[in-house]
This record gives sequence, C-alpha cells and structure tokens, in this order.
Amino acid sequence: MFGVEIRIHLSFVFLLLFIWVMEATTKTTSPARGLVLAAIIFGSVVLHELGHALVAAHSGLSARALVLLPIGGITLLDQSHDAATNVPRWKREVRIALAGPFVNLVIAFVAGSIVLAVAPEVHLTMRPLVHSAHLLRSVVWVNVVLAVLNLLPAYPLDGGRILCAAFTRHMDVMDATRHAVSIGQVFAVMFMLAGFITNVWLVVVGIFLFLATQLEERSVVFQSVLDSVRMEEVMLTDFVTLSPADTLEGALSKAVHSLQDDFPVIRGSDMVGVISRKKILEALQSQGNGYVQAFMNRVYEVAQKGESLASAFRKLTSRGLTIIPVVDNQRLVGIVTLQNLMHSMTLLAQSRKLRREAVD
Ligand SMILES: [Zn+2]
Repeated sequence: MFGVEIRIHLSFVFLLLFIWVMEATTKTTSPARGLVLAAIIFGSVVLHELGHALVAAHSGLSARALVLLPIGGITLLDQSHDAATNVPRWKREVRIALAGPFVNLVIAFVAGSIVLAVAPEVHLTMRPLVHSAHLLRSVVWVNVVLAVLNLLPAYPLDGGRILCAAFTRHMDVMDATRHAVSIGQVFAVMFMLAGFITNVWLVVVGIFLFLATQLEERSVVFQSVLDSVRMEEVMLTDFVTLSPADTLEGALSKAVHSLQDDFPVIRGSDMVGVISRKKILEALQSQGNGYVQAFMNRVYEVAQKGESLASAFRKLTSRGLTIIPVVDNQRLVGIVTLQNLMHSMTLLAQSRKLRREAVD
C-alpha cells in the first residue's frame, strides 16, 4: 500500500482463536459476529499504522514495512532514505508516533457522533464496551482503547517511542532503545499479572506487548550489527570465477569443485555479470551446451570494500539477488553471497567475541 510492505503478524490468528474461544464459552452471539469484531480491530490497526506511515513520509522518513499486531503495529522506517530537513530527528519521531493514536481518536469521535445521531438506542457507555454482540459500540471503544493503550510509555508502543526519542537526546540510539525496551517489558509483565486478577484481555495485551518488544529489540540489534560490519570482513576472497567464453559444461565442472552457488563472470579484469549454479544446470537441461555469456545475469550491484553490510544487504534484498561482488577501485576483491553470509557472520561474531575476551 503506497509502496509500503504490510505484514500481518501471526498473533492475529491467535486473536481470532481467542475471540472464538470467548464466544464459545459464553454462547451469546454468532461466530460471524466474532469475525466482524476481529475485522474491526484489524481495520482500526491498519488505519492507525497508515497514520504513522503518512506522517513519516511527510517528514522525510519513509516507511519500509508495517508489521501488524492486534495491539497496534510496528513501523519499520527506511533508515537509508532520511531526507534532510531542519527539524531534528527526535521531533519528527514524536510527530510520527502521535499520528497513530490521533487517527484512532478521530475514528472513535466520528463513529461515536454518528452512532449518537443515527442510532441513539445503542448505549455507548453500557458494558461490555467491546463485544461481538455490540459491534457499533465496539468500533468506538476499540479505537479509544487502541489510542490510550498506544500512548502508554511502553516501547514499542507509540508512547514508548516518544520516550525513546526523548532518551536519544542524551544517549545513542542503541542505548535509548534498550532502555525503552526494558521499560516496555516491565509493562508487559504488569499487564499479564493485572490480567489474571481483573480482565483476561489484559493478559492478551501483555503477551502481544511482550512479543512486540522482542521483535523490536531484535530488529534494532540486527540493524546495529549490520551497520558495524564492513564488506571486507565477511567477503569470500577465495572463490571461483567464470569467463563469458566458458561453455556451460566447463562452468558446471568448475562448479563441482567449489562450494559456491553463485559465480562472478570476469572478462580480463572486468566484472561482466553473475550466474548461479542453478541457472547453469537449467540452461544445460533446456538448451544443451552453450556459452556462459548467453545465460549470465547482467543486472548486478557491486559493493565497495569498506561499505557496511547493512547497505549491501539492502541492495541484495531489494533486487532479489543472491550474490554481490565486492570491489576496491573497480577491481574485484571478493564476493558475498546469501549462502555464505550466515556462515561468515557466525564466524565473525565468534572471532569478535574472542578478541573482546582477550582484551578483557
Ligand atoms: Zn502506533
């Protein structure tokens, strides 16, 4: 939607199950109404997140993906496209964070006014506030709950983001996020405990919140690792190259003797393309023998030796590539493939840890 990838977290399935179980035990209403209630929650969350995404786009921080959870969502901002503005980053993040709850309050206000005007027999303040037997009332209260809940200072809820943005004025992003995440986890546990005594919905909110803090922490840690690794630290320097004039059969026999899945194609000292083992096999099967030149992929990206893995990773994933050649002054010095990346990252992490221990 609007160039933003929208993902639905698996926990929405559990929300459906939860509503279904609640309905089955009370037997007051039909399963169809339960589904409509889930749809109301889903729709309100989507609009909430679109609120964030639109304000983000407006302030020059474009959203890359939304992960929808039943208590709100996580907007992953595209860190690489930070358009220059005069407004400090923390201020923009506060604005973006406020946009979601604002959308819910507007929906609650509009829906509430319409219900009061058109269907005064629906008593807005009667309990239960949110229930599949009272869908119109639920629209209003689901949105009020989403707005209030998201304004709690429990990261990664919007209130927590505002807190985190405030922290970044005095510390770096990693530390600020870690602080905010631990406050968020305390909130999650409190919700679960409070839920056991009062309302079972609070337990569910606590669980979702806990899931969300973990998602967020992982994404921040992952990002910071990617940022700290340079291509020359993880690239393969011992690799097989092909020539455009190689035959497919010749290429295959070279492939047999290496563990690579992808091969750079070199003419003289110039990179001219890439080809995968799979492509070589497919071409051999469908066309018989031929030359690498005819089947290689000319669309490729290169990374500089000192470039961060984060930026190379974006190039890889945005184009659906599996190999990225690493160059130093246009000379090919290594390759990074998706296949070797996990392996070399693990080794690098271990060697960094050993070095740290040696220093300590
Ligand atoms: Zn939000």
